[in-house]
Amino acid sequence: MSINKIMVIGAGQMGGGIAQVAAESGLEVVLNDVDAGLIEKRMAFIDKLLNRNVEKERITEKQKSEIMARLTPSTDLADAAGVDFIVEAATENMAIKEKIFRTLDEVARPGVILASNTSSLPITEIAAVTNRPELVIGMHFMNPVPVMKLVEIIRGIATSDDCYKKIEELAVRMGKTPVEVNDYPGFIANRILIPMINEAIYCVYEGVAEPEAIDTVMKLGMNHPMGPLTLADFIGLDTCLAIMEVLYEGFADSKYRPCPLLRKMVKAGWLGKKSGKGFFEYA
Ligand code: NAD
Repeated sequence: MSINKIMVIGAGQMGGGIAQVAAESGLEVVLNDVDAGLIEKRMAFIDKLLNRNVEKERITEKQKSEIMARLTPSTDLADAAGVDFIVEAATENMAIKEKIFRTLDEVARPGVILASNTSSLPITEIAAVTNRPELVIGMHFMNPVPVMKLVEIIRGIATSDDCYKKIEELAVRMGKTPVEVNDYPGFIANRILIPMINEAIYCVYEGVAEPEAIDTVMKLGMNHPMGPLTLADFIGLDTCLAIMEVLYEGFADSKYRPCPLLRKMVKAGWLGKKSGKGFFEYA
């Protein structure tokens, strides 16, 4: 089955970015969320980003209109019946994802591949709630999707070679660079990145240095474009904690224990940029 029309589930920062990049690459996109207001907001945000591209003469006004015309909002998962591929980017919660995949398995046509953009949840476990585990795969885009080139493609234990190949081709068609990964906690990106961030938080917790100093060392000393604590604030401290919990539980190894300061800040509602306060303050 060739892929021409897709559904993106979740109109948050990741789903919106995936929908935009897919529409830019010529695919018809159904953008689904439980909240119609959020889809409307996301469409307006995509429109704004595309206007900026018109102003910078990266695309023409006509191209912008064509991209926007390829995006269709949906609040009904039954709309999955009319698409050739589905990528889920809903909230990082196993119960939510399992419910979505159970429904998709019933609604989507046989042979349609179901992907998840999960940052850390096991693809094998998501696939197991469906009757098509060979067609379930991880397609992990990076944030912000229109800018970042990488897509980790995660093979669940049952994912077929044919399914992997089709999604690799789709990632290339969307202008991305795919990397093949097997299904273990955190995949590659977050298995390496989030423990580094956790270690930076331990440095604050143990009074090794102030957050500014830690970020400066990693920027000027290691050439990182952004310090680990600024990056943690951007990702969201709740998300960083959720991923550390997945690593801790998944490997049953104390080296992945989340820093108590990270837990405390999340409990306080200090989630980083999105809440206005994390390791740094945001207006
Ligand atoms: P977000 O909170 O911005 O968006 C999640 C969206 O999912 C919300 O709009 C919510 O209304 C919607 N949603 C919740 N339940 C739903 C359901 N049953 N059906 C349809 N929509 C539903 O979150 P995000 O940052 O966009 O993350 C989405 C996914 O992408 C998560 O799995 C996350 O781990 C993953 N991810 C996030 C990042 C990141 O940097 N934020 C990077 C890579 C992957």
